[in-house]
Amino acid sequence: MPRQTPPPSEKPPARLSLISRHLAPVYPINTPYTVERLPDTIDTSLLPKTPFRNLSSSSAAPKMSAQPPHPTLLIPGPIEFDDAVLQSMSHFSESHVGPGFVATFGETLSMLRSLFQTTDPSAQPFVLSGSGTLGWDLVAANLIEPADDVLVLGTGYFSDGFADCLRVYGANVTELKAPVGTKPQLPEIEKALAEKRYKAITVTHVDTSTGVLSELKDLSALVHRVAPDTLIIVDGVCSVACEEIAFDAWGLDAVVTASQKAIGCPAGLSISMFSGRAMQAVENRKTPPAAYFASMKNWTPIMKNYEAKKPSYFATPSPQLIHALHTALTQILVNPIADRFAAHKAGSDKIKAAVTAFGLKQVAANPAEQAHGMTAIYLPENVKGADLLPILAKKGVVFAGGIHKEIAAKYIRFGHMGVSLLDPKRPDITHAIKALAEGLAACGYTQGQ
Ligand SMILES: *Cc1c(COP(=O)(O)O)cnc(C)c1O
Repeated sequence: MPRQTPPPSEKPPARLSLISRHLAPVYPINTPYTVERLPDTIDTSLLPKTPFRNLSSSSAAPKMSAQPPHPTLLIPGPIEFDDAVLQSMSHFSESHVGPGFVATFGETLSMLRSLFQTTDPSAQPFVLSGSGTLGWDLVAANLIEPADDVLVLGTGYFSDGFADCLRVYGANVTELKAPVGTKPQLPEIEKALAEKRYKAITVTHVDTSTGVLSELKDLSALVHRVAPDTLIIVDGVCSVACEEIAFDAWGLDAVVTASQKAIGCPAGLSISMFSGRAMQAVENRKTPPAAYFASMKNWTPIMKNYEAKKPSYFATPSPQLIHALHTALTQILVNPIADRFAAHKAGSDKIKAAVTAFGLKQVAANPAEQAHGMTAIYLPENVKGADLLPILAKKGVVFAGGIHKEIAAKYIRFGHMGVSLLDPKRPDITHAIKALAEGLAACGYTQGQ
């Protein structure tokens, strides 16, 4: 379908253009760290005249499921949905304390224990309405008390955000920052832990702004050895369900995540697991938490009751989203979880090999520090994301722009989590790699340039 620039009178109002830039990421998105980056003119030719789901005549969009044809969403979350996950949301309305829904919620919480690989009965899962960011508030409001020292391992945009959130609740934050595209290394972490007694250390398992993967096993072993009282907090928003996380074996204290990334459920749920030790820290607080909705004391009995299939109420959950999460977790747990991690690694290796073959570099330069659910790719010198991303969108592939404040305009992000990578019937990844090659060529890039 040829899209034409509408006459000036039809140009969307400013607010619409802000929203539409999310739909078609033509320009780098604005973040709390960036000033408004409005181009001189918005290229309205890229805005859908009808909702995206009706762009069925867009020749390039591959048909990947029973869903209406649409550009394949290959950003680091939200990701593409499996049909069954999506369909499970169109469930008739139920009481959130009725036996049917209580059973569904209870099973969902129990399945999370398997996803996080914990069998310790003192570990506690939480599923709350909210996005991944709510996990930061849960940690900051409940595990940390004002003036507590927290060591934040700085990997990029998301670790910065976690640090900001901790400060809001009064934490005394020390950020151990690594250069863009890397992570703090064990010897410097050991040194920092030896210098001060920290209540907690936070690590962003995959910093979605750079695609840097932080190794958790050796890190937690180090913390247990040199700072045994320090709680180990993991931001797993972009890693849970695509990178290995062994909650018990590695002795983690909190892993927070969200529904819309590798779990493959619509956005809207904050999902977390806390260790018995973390639950004890909440119990032993000297000061009340400076949060009400995000108070774990309010939610703990509710989560325990749901898991015991007993109705309970603090604030209304979203039955439809819980149904979707139940379906997503059921699918994930059909096969050994290790196979899922291995498949993400194998798929990621192929994508990264293709990126290298195009002559492109990754933001995370060290292969040992590269995430397996996304790839952050530096653009060639003369290619702008603002030119390339719309070309990819026209080919039915939606990638994300840069978000790290130091390099935002210089790279793009390719998300490859969940069904797009795992479902052999979906052409998503092959199509995206082909589109990337063609898009780069259309931008005048020839390999080796
Ligand atoms: C996406 C993301 C978040 C924030 O999650 P929202 O659902 O957008 O609130 C936090 N941390 C990481 C690592 C993420 O990728």
